[in-house]
Amino acid sequence: MDHTRELYQQVILDHNKNPRNYGSMEKPDAFAHGNNPLCGDTIDVFLRINNGIVEAVQFEGAGCAICTSSASMMTEALTGKSEAEAEALFKSFHHALTDVVELDDVPLGKLKILMGVKDYPVRVKCATLAWHTFEAALKQVQGDISTE
Ligand code: ZN
Repeated sequence: MDHTRELYQQVILDHNKNPRNYGSMEKPDAFAHGNNPLCGDTIDVFLRINNGIVEAVQFEGAGCAICTSSASMMTEALTGKSEAEAEALFKSFHHALTDVVELDDVPLGKLKILMGVKDYPVRVKCATLAWHTFEAALKQVQGDISTE
């Protein structure tokens, strides 16, 4: 238990200090803005989508450590995924974080470390903000595509 908590804190601190894929994107295929008034987190998520593949995800914003590190890990987890895989991962992540589940049953990979936030229920919205914003951006792309 102690080891898990330590690892959780290390990962959060690392991603908060050195967020991956941070910064705005020129001419993104989709963009969404998210906002968590409970904590004061705001985030912009930018997507590059090509042939149904999430080629790049970038984010920018002012958030707490949980929000920033969750966004940073999200960009790593989603890059290279198909739209369907990305949506499935969003659903798994959200389900694992907001429902009572056996975590070993949910395919989360590295994201599992973020489940430590379940010990702090007020922070769950911080951890899911980037994901909801990503989902909103993805819906825009899908709205643009009339066939398929
Ligand atoms: Zn927050």
